[in-house]
Amino acid sequence: MPRRTLDSLVTEVASELMGVDATTMKAVTARVLATLVEYFDVDFSYVRHTDRERRATILVAEWPPREDVPEPDPLEVVYFDKADSVFKALENATEPFLVTRDDADYQETIRRASGLPYVTSAAVPLLSRGESTGLLGFIKVGDRDWSTRELNVLKAIAALFAQLQARVVAEERLRYIALHDDLTGLANRRALLEHMEERLRAGSPGPVATFFLDLDRLKALNDFLGHTAGDNFIRSLSTRLRENLDPTDMIARLGGDEFVIVPVKPMDAVAAENEATRIQQLIGRRVTVGGESVSRGASVGVALGIPGETTVADVLRRADHALLSAKSGGGNGVAVFTDAMRAQFELQDDVELNLRGAVADGSLILHYQPEVDLRTGRIVALEALVRWLHPTRGLLPPGAFVTVAEATNLAGELGRWVIRSACAQFAEWRRRGLAADVVMRINVSPVQLVSLDFVERIEDMLRLFGIDGSSICLEITEHVVVQDLSRTQVTLRGLKRMGVQIAIDDFGTGYSSLSHLKALPVDAVKIDRGFVQRLGASADDLAIVKSIIGLAGSFGLGVVGEGVETPVAARTLVGLGCYRAQGFLIARPMPAEQAEVHLAEGRIPLDLDLPRPDRSMPTR
Ligand code: C2E
Ligand code: MG
Ligand code: MG
Repeated sequence: MPRRTLDSLVTEVASELMGVDATTMKAVTARVLATLVEYFDVDFSYVRHTDRERRATILVAEWPPREDVPEPDPLEVVYFDKADSVFKALENATEPFLVTRDDADYQETIRRASGLPYVTSAAVPLLSRGESTGLLGFIKVGDRDWSTRELNVLKAIAALFAQLQARVVAEERLRYIALHDDLTGLANRRALLEHMEERLRAGSPGPVATFFLDLDRLKALNDFLGHTAGDNFIRSLSTRLRENLDPTDMIARLGGDEFVIVPVKPMDAVAAENEATRIQQLIGRRVTVGGESVSRGASVGVALGIPGETTVADVLRRADHALLSAKSGGGNGVAVFTDAMRAQFELQDDVELNLRGAVADGSLILHYQPEVDLRTGRIVALEALVRWLHPTRGLLPPGAFVTVAEATNLAGELGRWVIRSACAQFAEWRRRGLAADVVMRINVSPVQLVSLDFVERIEDMLRLFGIDGSSICLEITEHVVVQDLSRTQVTLRGLKRMGVQIAIDDFGTGYSSLSHLKALPVDAVKIDRGFVQRLGASADDLAIVKSIIGLAGSFGLGVVGEGVETPVAARTLVGLGCYRAQGFLIARPMPAEQAEVHLAEGRIPLDLDLPRPDRSMPTR
């Protein structure tokens, strides 16, 4: 290294400090101090930062490192009003300051902190816009004079440190803004994600509990008290959270009324649920905003992340799912993410993602379940039941995806596929002389029923496949009928004009009253399988089935027993005058080829040992 001169020293320091940021500041500063200590032949040097808010001077770096530093270090943070005369004088100094042996209490500070005996010292303020922001200091055991030239060089070096400090403060400020929510000062989404990355890194302590919080009906507060009140409410909630949680817990606001809390302490599910409940109750307490005392319930979703196993996105998604489930439970509650929820949500995501494709790519199929006249075994109808031949989950029953389709407005598409496919198959059978007296039953979603062009579409299908309306029976569930009576009425009348039959499915589980049934052009009811299954075992169910059959009769409606699983159920139905039935005892839903075999035979022989077989009776 070329010999240093006073001037080359400044250039050397300037280039050392150039690329420094908050993370490297301490180390690089110490390295520069080492150079200065050597060059100026002193014993100790330091850089301090002045914190104006705290009115304190804070040690940034020193050289050489002191040995046996007392705890707490008297030099780490020095408050000006408690400082010795030298530090006090340095609070606002703008010129270099030389300390001699005469400053007794300063000598005492140094002796306590470093064990050094009498020293002389030079302190050069770091100046930013004419104001002192810190100090560059040198200590020499014994005496040392400082020339004006030396002091000028130190001033130049102090200016470099001042610039560096100002830059780091600005960067910190920017970082703060980038990582905090400006309304509450809580962490923002980015800070949350950074924090969680860290917490979920392999080897970190776990499980890491994550609470997803959402205020119930915050919108109403904004609407009625104004947005300022809403903001104040959120602010006071944030303060409450800060005050009642561990200072190192991560509390983030994701915007709106969404918060995520990640307690610093590892927790199992039970501990997490308790803590979430505590937080949930904390939030529920009243706050005064805009002169009104208001409170908002909160829902909390809880999920646990395992470091090294669970990703941040997964934990957040699970907590969010749990939150949804807490909300759907009426809100103002806590829900912990469970395996059942996982399965349900995975399936739901999967369905949402793939169902549209499935409609197009042929992985939906229809099975057909025969309905017979119990007295003769003659097949009177086939019910088309949709299945999804899922690439990884196997054959999915409609229960696994029909409701999802309904919730994600895929029901229309799915329904159109079902109707078209069932009609196509039916027409094909008829063309081959099969199923001449058989009715094709097709289930329709409530959503389809209220769509404006539903009647037209059915008409198109019938025309396309040359099927007469009366060979088709559409099955609608009971609660739709109740929900939107007038709309349903219009649609059903349109269908009736084409001769299409209508049946109410799962009858007995909804709330249809007699007046509803009377108001609608319905042909038949299908008794819910829940009642039929227990015929012979449950007196209550027998009573219900009896009254449904009686009711249907008095309205002139047909009646079908669903879910016939036992001979006793079949015999009971026959005994009550309900001859049409469907159920595992007779036949399970089956692929078209198999159904075709039954159609060719026309009947499914049953051995019911009926008391009084009477084949001349008409079916109702
Ligand atoms: P659903 O219309 O009441 O259909 C009868 C359901 O009961 C079928 O279930 C059938 O497999 C089952 N089942 C029949 N006999 C018995 C029995 O003896 N015991 C028992 N335990 N179950 C029996 P699946 O195929 O799982 O269908 C369930 C529901 O999904 C259907 O109930 C219907 O509401 C709906 N669904 C089926 N296909 C479609 C469709 O294409 N569109 C719409 N919107 N819904 C459909
Ligand atoms: Mg049905
Ligand atoms: Mg049913």
